[in-house]
Amino acid sequence: MGLTTRILIAMLAGIVFGALLNFLNASQLLGSGATGAINSYLTGGLFDIVGRIFIASLKLMVVPLVLVSLVCGACALSEGSRIGPLAGKTVLLYLLTTAVAITLALCMALIIQPGVGVDVAPGGAFVPKESPPLSDVLVNIFPTNPVAAMAQGNMLQIIVFALLMGYAISRCGEPGERIAAFFNDLNEVVLRMVGVLMVFAPYGVFALLAKTFAELGMEFILDLGKYFLVVLATLLLHAFGVYSLLLKLLSGLSPIELFKKMRPAQVFAFSTASSAATIPVTLSTVEKRIGVDNKVAAFTVPLGATINMDGTAIMQGVATAFIAQMYGIEIGVMGYLTVILTATLASVGTAGVPGVGLIMLAMVLQQVGLPLEGIAIVMGVDRLLDMVRTAVNITGDSVVSAVVAKSEGALSEEIFYDRNYDSVANGGAVTASS
Ligand code: ASP
Repeated sequence: MGLTTRILIAMLAGIVFGALLNFLNASQLLGSGATGAINSYLTGGLFDIVGRIFIASLKLMVVPLVLVSLVCGACALSEGSRIGPLAGKTVLLYLLTTAVAITLALCMALIIQPGVGVDVAPGGAFVPKESPPLSDVLVNIFPTNPVAAMAQGNMLQIIVFALLMGYAISRCGEPGERIAAFFNDLNEVVLRMVGVLMVFAPYGVFALLAKTFAELGMEFILDLGKYFLVVLATLLLHAFGVYSLLLKLLSGLSPIELFKKMRPAQVFAFSTASSAATIPVTLSTVEKRIGVDNKVAAFTVPLGATINMDGTAIMQGVATAFIAQMYGIEIGVMGYLTVILTATLASVGTAGVPGVGLIMLAMVLQQVGLPLEGIAIVMGVDRLLDMVRTAVNITGDSVVSAVVAKSEGALSEEIFYDRNYDSVANGGAVTASS
């Protein structure tokens, strides 16, 4: 059985098993002794440990992979002086897709009106963490110390440093060639490390999902059902509708093929709820299964995981309209335009880790004068939505990567339409899957 199939089976098994534990817990069928044992040894014990090790093993690869791969990419790019146009196109598309996502979310929320008539007592006051001012977000892109940037996993700073280094290598003549050869070899090794870890992925995915679903409070769905469904429907519409159109119109590639190839990466994003932790899988999938050349993917994927959060923007759009409707506050057309602008910027500043989208929602609400207590209300259903929106976030990164690569002549259609290999299992090696 190919690794992709095993990962998908693990995902389904994890969800079913977790939901079963949840049901047993809630219904008290097993008595308090057995329930307590399951909670402490299985959900809070084994699953917790395996899940945490799994996430750690993904995160472990992020910094080496992004650095090495982007140095190689920048080096190849600067030979053809393509860094500028590539960066311009990528950032523009990232911002554009996010603005479309939030507009779609607002339209859906204004038509369906999930907040009208909802009367939910807030679960408690929400004390927002200070969201960083936008000027800091800009200044912080430039590292003062590359080692500190790597130690903290600061993606944008690592990107700047790697671009500079790759550019310098390509301008150095013979010494540069030696270093470039070294980095290219290192890139192979790092990708292979990702491949080795991937073999254990089904266990990690199972443990994470079983734990999450075992602990998920299901009763919230009733109270916030409409909000939940509107966010979910918009996420799906954006992923399958907007991205398909974009891919087809701008590159002529088949969306169905891309979605099929992205499935394992989407499962990782779904189970970890972190675009940043999923970078190794997204990068290897985009390069080895979708056929985007390393020189494009090494730049677009880590950048996308850091600044492109369409799914997050969708949640923020629906949540803002929902909260306004629930409190009966009219924010008007100008208010909604402000929401589009702020949520687009907020998504740039949102880190690709679980739950941060909700913190950045505070910034959006503040801009249009809506009560922050609203966040405490939508928080109840956020975990599950976070998982789905993270999968959408990384799908957006891969679509933009494919579009940009196609326009730069850096996409292999042979790989894109080839169904005969399972790259994730082999650190990228092209082999026949079973
Ligand atoms: N979990 C999301 C991500 O990593 C960010 C968020 O919306 O909270 O992409």
